Amino acid sequence: MTFSKWVQPIRFIIQACFIAGLVVPFFPHPEMVAKYIFLSTLVVGVFFCGWVCPLGAAQDWLSWLARKLRLPRYQIPYRFQKFLQFSRYIWAALILFTGIHYAFLNARFYFNDNLFYGMLTWTSALTLAVFLLISLFLDRPFCNYFCMKGALDGLMSIIRPFSIKRNNQTCIHCHLCDKACPMNVRVEHTPFVRHPNCINCFKCVSACPKNCLKFRLMSSPFQKPHKKQP
Ligand code: SF4
Ligand code: SF4
Ligand code: SF4
Repeated sequence: MTFSKWVQPIRFIIQACFIAGLVVPFFPHPEMVAKYIFLSTLVVGVFFCGWVCPLGAAQDWLSWLARKLRLPRYQIPYRFQKFLQFSRYIWAALILFTGIHYAFLNARFYFNDNLFYGMLTWTSALTLAVFLLISLFLDRPFCNYFCMKGALDGLMSIIRPFSIKRNNQTCIHCHLCDKACPMNVRVEHTPFVRHPNCINCFKCVSACPKNCLKFRLMSSPFQKPHKKQP
């Protein structure tokens, strides 16, 4: 079994462990684990969002369920996405520089820290319900457009030495990688993925029929794509 086939089941199991960890904490020192995951972002990218974050997992699973139920699925057209992808940086700047913090930006906190402890208020429960409902039609709505942690981690990861490389010799430009990406990264347009939206979910790798996407060490941390992401 190749990496592209086993990576999604393994990712599912790890995500399930971290969701279970919200109820029964596994880790004696969760703050140490969080520190190592944070540091790893600089080297290998945002594995936290793709493999660990319970709210990310919940959105993924609802998207999976929606596909199984054959609900209509939508992907924001790139002419809008190229602007909308900056919204989470705007929210992050608003919070960091003005202190203004709207309840709807707190969905990660409501889910990851409060869901299983009966501490949800009506406002927080409603906020979560809205994002989870939208996940039935759109991949990771909170991660794509609202999450401050996702935005900051993504920025930290852009000069990571490890990234997904695309072999242009074997690529048939079918765009299945683009369609599979829950974070709207245009994988087919670049020889390697070093986009701040990438969460290392490897769905593009699993979707590629030619096995031309590989997670590799880059030749230089400052290497730029030959083609600009349009
Ligand atoms: S972007 Fe935010 S909510 Fe989404 S997986 Fe990352 S930390 Fe969690
Ligand atoms: S580019 Fe690939 S690994 Fe990155 S978020 Fe998109 S599908 Fe996941
Ligand atoms: S799925 Fe594979 S073959 Fe198709 S465009 Fe993407 S990298 Fe190329």
